[in-house]
Amino acid sequence: MSKKVITVFTNGMETSEKIVKLLCSKLERSGFSVVSEFSPDSELIMCIGGDGAFLAAVHEFDFPSVPFVGINTGHLGFFQEISPSQIDLFIENYKRRKFHIQHLKTVKACIAHDGESAEHVGLNEIIVKGRASTAIHLNISIGGSFIEYFSGDGILVATPAGSTAYNYSLGGSIVDPRLNLLQITPIAPMNTTAYRSFTSSILLPADLSFEVAPDYGDSHDIVICVDGAEYMYETVSHINICFSETLINLARFESYDFWNKVKAKFLDSAVAGK
Ligand code: NAP
Repeated sequence: MSKKVITVFTNGMETSEKIVKLLCSKLERSGFSVVSEFSPDSELIMCIGGDGAFLAAVHEFDFPSVPFVGINTGHLGFFQEISPSQIDLFIENYKRRKFHIQHLKTVKACIAHDGESAEHVGLNEIIVKGRASTAIHLNISIGGSFIEYFSGDGILVATPAGSTAYNYSLGGSIVDPRLNLLQITPIAPMNTTAYRSFTSSILLPADLSFEVAPDYGDSHDIVICVDGAEYMYETVSHINICFSETLINLARFESYDFWNKVKAKFLDSAVAGK
């Protein structure tokens, strides 16, 4: 019988590399074959690092359906399930299939520009903003109806999984990942007699379309930021943002509870980073 394959991905930091060595030897002793390049034969992808490493793996491996599990090496580690001291327990639980799969929804932007179209998928969020700190003016339609003329730094569209990331720093709400909604959070909205924009987040059901059409002043450049990576477009006519059909699967073990995780990472400073 051929060995079961596990892909191990790391952020390359010294602390993570030490954990990778330890993990690989323990996995191999437990009968697994470990690879560092993603192989479709893999039954699991393990990410060593923080949420940044997890997001990097999701994008580098092009949103695979193979489940992920993360070992947190001293970062915030919101996605990361286990700590380095729990490797033996993890292997034991994994071999006994004592876990469930959490499905995370992703967000997609379809960009019409210069007679062409482009598409980006994000796990945390997609941001539409101007180039080099310039204010941006956007005509925003929801469900095909024009709703607001937004002026400010930009608009962030967060998935439930991304609600605890940049969205939260902007004053957006934390969304339980079991809810099927997209959160539109303004970035520094202008709300004056000159410009009128919503100043709070708005929540949209999964089946409602959200469309952004830039209103250009001097600059015709639009920046689309996807999970921290920036892409520049010129002369965008409109951007449609909605849920993507792609799901990211995370292996979660018995002790996982979303709201306890939120408490540990945002309220209990003594346990942050563990
Ligand atoms: P980064 O340095 O990789 O991440 C910034 C922080 O966000 C890190 O502490 C990271 O955790 C944490 N994080 C990422 N996803 C999270 C999630 N779903 N829930 C809670 N925390 C999360 O930054 P980057 O490479 O520029 O962008 C990656 C992500 O960082 C973006 O998708 C964005 O949401 C977030 N970000 C936040 C801000 C802000 O809050 N002002 C600014 C820029 C980007 P780890 O420490 O475990 O890696």
